[in-house]
Amino acid sequence: MYSDSPPKYDEGSNAPPGMVPVEPYTPAQPPTILVVNKAATPLYSRSMLGTHSMQLSCPHCSRQITTRVDDNLSIVGWVSSLVLCLFTGCCCCIPCCMDSCKDFEHTCPECNCLIGTKKAFN
Ligand SMILES: [Zn+2]
Repeated sequence: MYSDSPPKYDEGSNAPPGMVPVEPYTPAQPPTILVVNKAATPLYSRSMLGTHSMQLSCPHCSRQITTRVDDNLSIVGWVSSLVLCLFTGCCCCIPCCMDSCKDFEHTCPECNCLIGTKKAFN
């Protein structure tokens, strides 16, 4: 079937042979550097966090919140528990009751983001 649009040839070049059309000078554009002013999220340092809920401004959602605290037995706690179990045969649950053997994770109740962790023995 015959096509209605025959292939178009370049007829726009009227420059005589041998002459190179001078292209308009375009200054080299400096590469656009996208500077993202990335403000570091002010995570609360461990020393500021305690073992209980605290009132502070969430660094993620900027709301005034009372942190939710989840305590987990830390590595130190697990090791202490194991050592106590091996050497005494009992008392292995003592580290589970000691706050100093636990990690305390402070999370925001509004956005559920981790605000900081108070590590055991810190
Ligand atoms: Zn939040």
